[in-house]
Amino acid sequence: MRVDQTIKYMAWPEPYKGDKQDFRITLSWPVINHEKLLVATIQKNEKKRQWHEPTPDFRLICSKEKNAAAILYQGERISKRKGLDMALWGIGCVSVTSCYPKISREDEKALAEWLGLKPKQTRNHCIPELSEWTAGAIAAETQRERDARGELRDEDVLLCPEALPDGLVEYIRRSVLPNDDVLIYKKGNVRGTCFQCRQNVRATGGQRFRQGEFATCPNCGRRGIAYLDGSDRFKVDYVEDIVTIQKGTDGKTVFLRQWHLLRDKTAQWNDIPAQLEEICRYAIRGNRVAKWQHENKENRIYGAFRYRLSEWTRTQSVSVVYDGQYYFYLPENWREHIAGTSLQYCDLADYNLRAINAMRNRNMIRFLLDWARYPAIEKFWKAGYTTIVHERIRGLNKETQHTMRWTRNSIHEAIRFPSRFLKLHDSFDWTMGDMQKVTKLWKQVESGELRENDLPEMARSLATLDDIRDAMGHASIHRILRYVDSCVEKEREQRRIEAEEARREGRHYWSDGPLQAPHTYRDYLKDCVKLNLDLDDKTVLFPRDLDAAHARTIAQVKHQANEKSREAFRKEVQRLKWMEWEKDGLLIRLPVDGDEITAEGAYLHHCVGGYVDRMANGKTTIFFVRRVEEPDKPFYTLEWLNGQVQQCRTTCNGNYIQNPEIKCFVDAWVEKISKKGSKKKTAIEAA
Ligand SMILES: [Zn+2]
Repeated sequence: MRVDQTIKYMAWPEPYKGDKQDFRITLSWPVINHEKLLVATIQKNEKKRQWHEPTPDFRLICSKEKNAAAILYQGERISKRKGLDMALWGIGCVSVTSCYPKISREDEKALAEWLGLKPKQTRNHCIPELSEWTAGAIAAETQRERDARGELRDEDVLLCPEALPDGLVEYIRRSVLPNDDVLIYKKGNVRGTCFQCRQNVRATGGQRFRQGEFATCPNCGRRGIAYLDGSDRFKVDYVEDIVTIQKGTDGKTVFLRQWHLLRDKTAQWNDIPAQLEEICRYAIRGNRVAKWQHENKENRIYGAFRYRLSEWTRTQSVSVVYDGQYYFYLPENWREHIAGTSLQYCDLADYNLRAINAMRNRNMIRFLLDWARYPAIEKFWKAGYTTIVHERIRGLNKETQHTMRWTRNSIHEAIRFPSRFLKLHDSFDWTMGDMQKVTKLWKQVESGELRENDLPEMARSLATLDDIRDAMGHASIHRILRYVDSCVEKEREQRRIEAEEARREGRHYWSDGPLQAPHTYRDYLKDCVKLNLDLDDKTVLFPRDLDAAHARTIAQVKHQANEKSREAFRKEVQRLKWMEWEKDGLLIRLPVDGDEITAEGAYLHHCVGGYVDRMANGKTTIFFVRRVEEPDKPFYTLEWLNGQVQQCRTTCNGNYIQNPEIKCFVDAWVEKISKKGSKKKTAIEAA
């Protein structure tokens, strides 16, 4: 409810400092738009200690005519839709039925009258009754808003006719049961019932039925999958779920009804309707959808633990299809079921047909829910972009989910690039990947990174702008893409040859993942940049054999990196030379190079080998402690970090502290270099 300015500017009484009361309530009756409103000013008792920081005082504004209520806190401009009980709780009143308000005799009488109560009937000075009225008004207002938005109500589930749609039973007989290639066997693995020939059978000749494995029926000879009676496999209790479409009794709502087809353990199927247990209803009205369940399940390792709900219960997960798999029965008179609804221009038969041709795409429930909610789906579908609609219905991934604006009412508003580029592919050939690519390329055109003329060729190529970025400027995009395409072609050919070889030798051939050439080219170019190779030289830019050229640059980059790291190591050793020292037959020195560290680690069996790079980068320092007469024989290894000994170890991580001679030497060294170090520092500062 919108609260009028007059009420917002009403003066506030002095804060209430009462005795034992929780709060004070005073009434006023302003007339707004010819209606006398009830305004209750509620002030907490400032003298009463609160168990939490109380909210500000507030006013409850009630309109009987509008059946609406609002709470306006002191000092705020925007009212809140909040129950009186919650608002009172905020100022320290635990329960409306046990509260202790301060209210004048006249106000109490007027409030009782407004609520239609006799003064004697009231408990707690009308507060519980006022709270109840407020709750009712708020619920009604929320519902009115939902209705205005066209949202479905919880009770709309009952707009669904209860009778089974015509033809459903025949459909089950004709299309579902013949596919039920199941054999349910009893404990002992010999006796069972074949659901193909509908006979009780007995395995012969040493055959045993096993859970989830193929079995050949001893009676009809057909193959089926065996399940142990009484086990928790879905197929033991159910054949499959069946879904169909039916118009609601209001003529505007379309229902998708989902049943379990319970397994008739006799396999005779004399009463199919008795085997149907309705578990889920999806409703579509306008562009709004809803879902109710009459069953719930908790997923376990094998199958699910299912339990029946006592009534239809609305669920949030509307577009998640319960159980995932189902048979869809499209009644012959399906046009009647959608006439006059938001689905009326949806060609269900066309979808059903195309979806059957592409079995894994088939999800009529999701198709219809999305059709109603996202206007772009209809536009794309009718213009022949069926591949992207199927992808959307299967569920998009992180990269593609924001590629399109599905809520828009036309294709050119739904895509984020000029619609002239839709001519790049035939409508059926467009995939979400293409849409995403062109969207990205168009952004690059807008930012000036790519010329618009180059977009079509980029869009058709397997290469992305990232793949060829380092080549740009050294040749035209057209030329670069032609080169990448030729590499892709070579790779395809190579794979074909390998597959052929594998086939001839009876091996399995695995490499059918995405083609690598565009990425190889990207990595090659990056190496060229690192190595300062001349990309204007066409033999560098477009090597005849990309893989071989890349192998060469990899080796060169690696060599260069080693070179660099050796150089850095040498400089680091030079810088720290002053820390080397000798005393009493022992010496401490720096490693000559990284290899010496690695060798030390291998000799003493500790982990110093991994420290080479860290030392080259100045992150830490490694010293060798040696006997003067054996300066090259590994003895103790010392790590110097942040101006102190981090560790000093010998064979198999033995600690220097356990060896008094070494401990003494290292301590003396530390003292020596800290003096030298500070002198050095002073010298530097002086210079
Ligand atoms: Zn059989």
